[in-house]
Amino acid sequence: MTNRKSAQQNTTSRRRVLSGFGALATASLLPQRLSAQGVNNDVDVLIIGGGIAGASTAFHLAEQGQDVLLLERGEIASEASGQNMGGLGGNGWGNNPNLLSYITAGSVEIFKRMQLDLGYDMEFRLSGTLTAIHTEEQFEYYQDQVTRLRAGGYQVELLTPREARAIEPEANSELLGYVHATERGQADPVKSTRAFAHAAEMAGASIATGQNVTSITPLSRGGYSVQTESAEYRCQTLVLATGAWCGPVGEMLGLKIPIVPVRGQMWATDSMPMRVFHTIGSAESSYAWSKDNGSDAVTPPNLTHKNNRRVIRHLYGRQRKNGEIIFGGDRESLGYNKTPNPDGIEVNRGHAAEVIPLVASLPIKRTWAGLMPFSIDGAPIIGKISLRDNLFIVSGLSSSGFGRGPMSGKLAADFIRTGHMTHVLTEADPDRCVTEA
Ligand SMILES: Cc1cc2nc3c(=O)[nH]c(=O)nc-3n(C[C@H](O)[C@H](O)[C@H](O)COP(=O)(O)OP(=O)(O)OC[C@H]3O[C@@H](n4cnc5c(N)ncnc54)[C@H](O)[C@@H]3O)c2cc1C
Repeated sequence: MTNRKSAQQNTTSRRRVLSGFGALATASLLPQRLSAQGVNNDVDVLIIGGGIAGASTAFHLAEQGQDVLLLERGEIASEASGQNMGGLGGNGWGNNPNLLSYITAGSVEIFKRMQLDLGYDMEFRLSGTLTAIHTEEQFEYYQDQVTRLRAGGYQVELLTPREARAIEPEANSELLGYVHATERGQADPVKSTRAFAHAAEMAGASIATGQNVTSITPLSRGGYSVQTESAEYRCQTLVLATGAWCGPVGEMLGLKIPIVPVRGQMWATDSMPMRVFHTIGSAESSYAWSKDNGSDAVTPPNLTHKNNRRVIRHLYGRQRKNGEIIFGGDRESLGYNKTPNPDGIEVNRGHAAEVIPLVASLPIKRTWAGLMPFSIDGAPIIGKISLRDNLFIVSGLSSSGFGRGPMSGKLAADFIRTGHMTHVLTEADPDRCVTEA
């Protein structure tokens, strides 16, 4: 009882620190490289992975008074969470929220809290998304989709090109229409992920970067010993938030975690005054994937390439606060290859110019690529791996993990603290697919 009371007092005082943090939490103060010095090597919960999934899990656990350490081999946000487009998906909660509604709409609420209540400048705004419709078939498909979604209480509407151009003047007037998803937003990937890590530290978590986990050993008294190249850590509960590297990290525990790296690549124009206000997409891929998502026993669904050949084009983009217009879309399974492919970038640029003709005349200033954690069945993998004691995972967030990571981390944190799996996580249960190696 005394312990619970002091834990509650502890949590309350940490919350006070957080709510008072306010405007101090400017981007310039966010940690880029956090030292392992002074970190306690013996903790209750150890999280591996400093992307948005791990950083959010650490924040929500620490805020609930848990003793947490996060290990990251590079810097916070050095992989997919820092390299993505910054789009926040979903169509709101709907009348009967499922897992995807929870992790998309819930994450938007968490972004609002971080930006508006805790004072982090994450460049978050609820911009909405416009998805361009190019053909009659796509139009019919989306007419059905929008009707179905609206009946389910989701916030989405079909616009004529004229209506779309009233809110996005650079949108192509020659297309058939646009799907307007009002509950979608955008934020800066690096600033956001580092904000979660910083908020975790403010709530009492320890964060050690430059800590590459090389082996994991279960301890006879329970818990785990986690070795990096320079230190050994021990914990009661271990959380894997290692994104596209869940496969190799799972192997350290003798487990097969069916997550594969999928390369996403992007390009940016020079900075220019604001011309693009929404996040931008195209209906081409979602329509094609609704007919055939291309998956098989070893290939996740919804990729743009199969067996080194393009099967479809995919598009997402926006204009950043610094003025760069950025677009991307390709999803190719190539192992751990992070080198952008110029041909794919040109195809994507042509696709972008069909929707926002302005970009056809803008030179490409830089390109980059990152690795997305695609689960083989396409669904998130969040929860307890019951093949081992006290082992959790929050991953498999595929191409939408930036917009889904914050709430995924909160749901994982709630599960770890309470020992209770909320019903909505049933769809994400790791036991459906994680096996002995
Ligand atoms: C080009 C591109 C565009 C995208 N656009 C969007 C978008 O607009 N919206 C959206 O929602 N999503 C988008 N995504 C997907 C999104 O970025 C990912 O789903 C999300 O960032 C995954 O987060 P994560 O924390 O699971 O993984 P990561 O961010 O990859 O983090 C995992 C971390 O684990 C660390 N790690 C791995 N192994 C070890 C080890 N042995 N020891 C210590 N640390 C280790 C890694 O260094 C890494 O930092 C995009 C991705 C890409 C590549």
